[in-house]
Amino acid sequence: MANLLIKDAKYVVTVDPKRRVIRDGAVAVEGMEIVEVGKSSELKRKYPRAETIDAKNKIVMPGLFDCHAHSYQNMIRGMAFVLPRRQRGAFLLGPTLRLQGVYTPEDAKASMALNCLEYIKSGVVGFCDWGINLRYKIDGLAEVVRDSGIRGVLGKSVMEYPDYGSCKNVIDPGLIEDKDECIRDTIRAIKKWHGKADGRIQVWFGPRSVGALSVETYKEIARLVKQYKVGITYHLAELGELDTGFIWNTYGMSPMEFMKSVGWVGPNVSFNHCLYLTGIDFKILMETGTNVVHCPGTGFDTRVQDMLQMGINVALGCDGGHETNDVFLAMKLEKTLQNRIPRRDLTILYPEKLIEMATINGARALMWHRESGSIEKGKRADMILVNLNKPSLTPMLNPVHDLPSRVLGSDVDTVIVNGKILMENRVVKTLDEDRVIEEARRRAEEVRERAGYEIEWHWPEI
Ligand SMILES: [Zn+2]
Repeated sequence: MANLLIKDAKYVVTVDPKRRVIRDGAVAVEGMEIVEVGKSSELKRKYPRAETIDAKNKIVMPGLFDCHAHSYQNMIRGMAFVLPRRQRGAFLLGPTLRLQGVYTPEDAKASMALNCLEYIKSGVVGFCDWGINLRYKIDGLAEVVRDSGIRGVLGKSVMEYPDYGSCKNVIDPGLIEDKDECIRDTIRAIKKWHGKADGRIQVWFGPRSVGALSVETYKEIARLVKQYKVGITYHLAELGELDTGFIWNTYGMSPMEFMKSVGWVGPNVSFNHCLYLTGIDFKILMETGTNVVHCPGTGFDTRVQDMLQMGINVALGCDGGHETNDVFLAMKLEKTLQNRIPRRDLTILYPEKLIEMATINGARALMWHRESGSIEKGKRADMILVNLNKPSLTPMLNPVHDLPSRVLGSDVDTVIVNGKILMENRVVKTLDEDRVIEEARRRAEEVRERAGYEIEWHWPEI
């Protein structure tokens, strides 16, 4: 039985264990699940009564994962960079934190809706949000994810001190939280939302970066993560001296030695960035199956190839407000940046690797690899259709090579998650696109005014 048949695809790029690419392919779906993947002629005969999606001149591939997001920053992205110098202050992240510090729960919800809308429109089927503050109220955000139809890991903030690495008292007063309240609310949210919406929502710990927690709290979180069988998303070794140097100076250990000492290792732990790690750190990541989320838009890591070669699971992230939510763009950035390394070994970072990082590695980093990240019988139907009827995608002789090089999120035509069609022919079915954009636009202005920020123009605005 199948109720949905995606037929006549130019190619189905499965990312299954054999990495099969099926020319003239089709995928049959029953309810939430993929029941068969094969040649279109055969599946059309087998499932004549299924509703069909015509994938002529389209590529069918697994949906993408953005494994490091800041949903609440989407609505204010770019704002911190256009402030007058006098309002910017000395601390790089100061304006972003201040803007977030005046958010209402409704602002956070509007930003999450914008986030989910952008994901659907660019072929992202799942994401991992870090640092959800108490003031955003996680229940409203979970409702938006539930209604949008995509997958979301909601990483709940925990904070003990308002410090960031060696920078003291830099967290905006509006974002300061009480540690015990953070933990209580995280446990409450786990009980209410983890595994809900047919498994599309997870609640993890997404504590503030080094400097914000005592060693006891790191260990307490490790115990809770084990008890509630959830995960951790965390910024690690992102900024050099400020955070990596802080770990060495404070604990006398390398970043991963410290994380191992507090119990923050394993397949349910995802470390974002990881730019200043060394050999001992890689060894621990490899031995413990801990995930790395690389965000090429906000920090270039020359060691990605080394990590992949060692067998470390490296996924991709867009890092929220800094960039767009387009994981195809992240693939392109990564490809371009890696090509600039003189010692590069092209056999390691083939385009195939980039597709894996954006699909199956991403699903693995978010503990969804048993149900998503590839197109296989028995997995949930999480897939996207890329429209090849575009000048920029003509000709396409080898889709695997060309997907990371030339496709952009805007080339995605159709998005299916858990067997449900979220977007067809670029029309989003689960969110009211105009309303989401209009509300985000209005609230962004209100947030800026509430924070007391002006916009600086270098050219005359007339
Ligand atoms: Zn980040």
